[in-house]
Amino acid sequence: MSKEIILTGLRANGTFHLGNYLGGIQPMVNLQRDKAGEYQINMFVPDLHSFTTPVEHQHLFRSTITNLKMYVAAGLDVHDPDTFVYRQSYIPAHSEMAWILDCFAYFGEISRMTQFKEKSDGQANVSVALFNYPVLMAADILLYNAKWVPLGDDQKQHLEITRDIGERLNNKFGTELFVLPETWDKQLQFAQREVSVRIRSLVDPTKKMSKSISDPRGTIELTDDPVEAAKKVMSATTDSLGKIAFNFAEQPGISNLLQILALLTHQSQAAVNTEWEGKNSYGDLKKAVAEAVQVFLTDFQTKLAAVDEIALMAKLEESEERMREATAPVLYRVQQAVGLRPQE
Ligand code: AMP
Repeated sequence: MSKEIILTGLRANGTFHLGNYLGGIQPMVNLQRDKAGEYQINMFVPDLHSFTTPVEHQHLFRSTITNLKMYVAAGLDVHDPDTFVYRQSYIPAHSEMAWILDCFAYFGEISRMTQFKEKSDGQANVSVALFNYPVLMAADILLYNAKWVPLGDDQKQHLEITRDIGERLNNKFGTELFVLPETWDKQLQFAQREVSVRIRSLVDPTKKMSKSISDPRGTIELTDDPVEAAKKVMSATTDSLGKIAFNFAEQPGISNLLQILALLTHQSQAAVNTEWEGKNSYGDLKKAVAEAVQVFLTDFQTKLAAVDEIALMAKLEESEERMREATAPVLYRVQQAVGLRPQE
């Protein structure tokens, strides 16, 4: 029997930030390390998703490659034979499947997506593609029959809608066209996460750390100078309660720091909370987090500079070939089901 698939993708626009790393990259690297040989790992760059919001197109191709290098710098072993790295636009079945799924996705349900509301808020020209984003994402997942999709908390709704659309087609056509990704709770357990990961802006911890937030002091880019990044942590917004507690509703800034500390130092959230809760020196907590960030970035950037791009490109092209082969029959079965291809 073929191996179950663990799949994730991170859009290639600009560089990655700490939220991308902790929410999207680190779980994949950990899963690859812990479950080597048991699962197939698909780590792709959704380059078609990258310009659902405006980008500088002349840099897109290059930043796609840079982002792939970042996976390697983060510890992804691309030489593992069960690991595949690929660019979405090199596998045409993603776009073809997305169109078919579009015809079964409802305007009402897609309109409820909070990511769309957040990203379109206040923008003059909102692309249809931004609205359509979750359907292309559903295609990215369902095309591979991927059961395991480690994602940051911001993608929970998108995972759920992927399950809804996949199930709708399975029911309508009375056949198991798709293996559905598991529920969010199972995904968390699988990724060995006690709580969902949503890294907040250091300036406004009620918002997630994001590429689109304009204030760079709130976001730690993986390419930031490590010393400057540590300074951003030292000036992070906290609160005036004066007592450390892990409670995102009451103390989002402090909880954000505790979460970053746990994940960067590979400790459980419970262990970090036990160490810090009840203490009242926010400065000490900030120092510990700033140091963890500085150590992490220094190490990451050293590894990034050493990535062998030629070997990576060879792996990329080989993976893309394999993925074109793997997705063709899945797409064909769906085309048959909807009547675009002969039944037998
Ligand atoms: P995106 O930047 O939207 O392509 O997201 C790529 C990955 O990073 C997804 O797994 C997201 O869930 C994750 N991600 C993005 N921002 C954050 C954040 N602030 N905290 C945690 N995960 C995040």
